[in-house]
This record gives sequence, C-alpha cells and structure tokens, in this order.
Amino acid sequence: MPKLIQAEDVVTNFYTYEGVVKALNKVGLVVDHGATFGLVGESGCGKSVMVRSMMRIVQEPGQIEGGKVVLFFNGDQQQEAVDLLQQSEAYMEDLRGNHISMIFQEPNAALNPIMSIGDQISESFLFHRKKEMSKKILEDLSADDCRVFLPLKKLQQTLYTIAADNPKSFILIICSKIPILSLWQRRLKREALQRSIDIIRKLSISNPSETVHRYPHNLSGGMKQRIVIAIALACHPMLLIADEATSNLDVTIQAQILELLKDLKKTEIASILLITHDLGIVAETCDRVGVMYAGNLCEVADVEKLFQNPQHPYTKALLESVPKFSQEGRLRSIDGAVPNLVSPPSGCRFHPRCSHAMEICKQTFPEEIEIEENHMVACHLYVK
Ligand code: SF4
Repeated sequence: MPKLIQAEDVVTNFYTYEGVVKALNKVGLVVDHGATFGLVGESGCGKSVMVRSMMRIVQEPGQIEGGKVVLFFNGDQQQEAVDLLQQSEAYMEDLRGNHISMIFQEPNAALNPIMSIGDQISESFLFHRKKEMSKKILEDLSADDCRVFLPLKKLQQTLYTIAADNPKSFILIICSKIPILSLWQRRLKREALQRSIDIIRKLSISNPSETVHRYPHNLSGGMKQRIVIAIALACHPMLLIADEATSNLDVTIQAQILELLKDLKKTEIASILLITHDLGIVAETCDRVGVMYAGNLCEVADVEKLFQNPQHPYTKALLESVPKFSQEGRLRSIDGAVPNLVSPPSGCRFHPRCSHAMEICKQTFPEEIEIEENHMVACHLYVK
C-alpha cells in the first residue's frame, strides 16, 4: 500500500521548571493509505505528544526540535510529498480539519457550549470549503431568475465570484464587517448548514434537521462524540487521528463509535491513526500497530503478528498484563515504574524494568531493525 504519512526521528521536549521533559526521542511511524494504525502504550508514554507533534499542535512549553513528518498527497510519489514540520502556520491551518482531522477523548472540551451543533459543523465548511460552496451558489444564482431583486442579485453574484476566486479576499473581509453587506453570506451559511445536516445523516444520527439546532448540553455523551466525529469528517480528511476517542464512553457506546469509524473509513476517510491504551480496541480495529514506551517506539508490526508473536520484551510484558478468558492465577504486571522523562534511563529506556537487560542496554540506545518483513523491533536482543 502507498504511504499516506511518514514521521521520522521526531524529537519533542517540554521545558518545565523541573527540567527538560524528553517526551519523544527520535520516534518514527508510517501510516499507509487505507490502513488503520494503532499507537499503544501506557499513559504518559508519548502517544498523544507524537500525534500532536505530527499535527504541529504541541502546546507551550513543548517544542518540536527535530525530525520530519512527510505527508504524501498522491501515494508515495516524492513530488507530492510535503514535510509538515517545514511549512508555515497558515499552511498548517489550512491542512488541519481539511486533509488531517483529529478527535479527542473529551467531547465536552471539543464542543463549544454556547454554539449550536449546526454552527459548529458549519464552521469547518465555512473555513475550508468557501471557494467550492461559492461556485455552487453562483450556479444556483444563475439558474434562479425570479426570486432575487436584480441589483441585489448582481451584488451577490459579484461577491460570490470574488469568494469563488479568493475566499480570503480583503473586499470580502470588509463586507463581512458591515452589517448590511454581511448579509451576502446568508446563502453561504445556508449551504454550510445543509452540508452539516447531510454529514449528521451519514453518521446515523436521528432527526438531523432538528439536531443541528440543538446545543451540546442537549445531547448524550455518545451523541456528542458523534458530533465531534461529524466536525472532523466534514471536509473528507485523508487521515483521521482519534486520540483515546472512546475512552470516556461506556462499553456499548464505545463499540458503536468504533463500528462507526470502521464504516466511515470505507467511504469518508482514507486512513485512521488510533491512539489508545486499550489493546482490545487495537486487535479489533487496526491493521498495523506501534508500541510506545517512555517516548520511544519499541515495536511495529501487523496487528495479528504483534499479538501472536510479540518480540520486544516490553510488548510481551504488556500483552501478558491483559486479562484473558483462559486466565488462571494472578495477572502478571511489569515490575518497576515508568521513568521520569526529565532524566530518563540511559541506553534503552526500558532497561531498569527489563528481565533481559544486558550491559549494552544500559549504555547504547537500540536502533530499530526489521526482524522480518514489516516487523520492526528496537531491542539489543536482535541484530541485523
Ligand atoms: Fe530489554 Fe535490552 Fe531489549 Fe531494552 S534493549 S528491551 S533492556 S533487552
């Protein structure tokens, strides 16, 4: 499968009063076109920092200090590749929510409590699809020859022609500030609302034309997460990043949301990058999986391979700590605690907790090697 996005050697640090938190230590991953990639690991291992670094939304005092995040717009043909870490903020603003969207764990934090659902979904269309919608409105205006007063129609046509050419035009910004002239946007808002209703309908939410006029407090937790997904999907992104998107939902709603994401991937999105600490979700929904520990990627493999034949000592320990139907006796846990990333262990960051640790593990950081086709491990137990 062609690559969709490839992160290489990403380094992100947080400059806190306690010291520099080395949150990502040269982490790389590849999400293929059409695939669902699961990123797993304990809380605080750097999963969310990784995707936030890829989207360039790391908050202060965090800083992305190295690496590449290459997005392939047309398969992995190099001429279509763009390194996101080298682009301007204006470029990233246009990309986020348009080509790459993200949904978060807490829908209440993602939704604005004083805006209607319709207005919140419409924002995405008005920000990213103004050009396309203006062209459609121009066609409608040409076909509609009796309902609009002629001079007003001419003015509307002029403004929509400008919007279809350059939606960020200075003239449009001025017109939007003058109350009487700002009315030109009414058709645009109506079109965005209609598109919002259509996307809500695709997400199997009942009564979409009524739901768009509701507010977040009128909806249940599962419904709110569906609305967050609707906002993320509004512009048909190539990549949907779901950061613990189902963690706060009860298990039945969680299953519905995961099923919904699976269905949507067939029609609305190219690929999904799923961040979770739940190995069951990964087993059910992902094609490939990466395991993170203390700011490093330990192992990457196809999901069946990783569950049936894990190679990295941390992956093995993680899988052994998950309860199974056939479980007898006490559940095994990983000895020790997650290290403080202000002063992480030297060499392999897992060495203080690893039962296979050798002298080299304390001194040298293990490079990632391919032990079999599409199965990467970063551990000194394996040699090239
Ligand atoms: Fe264990 Fe050494 Fe492998 Fe790290 S590199 S996981 S310490 S064996």
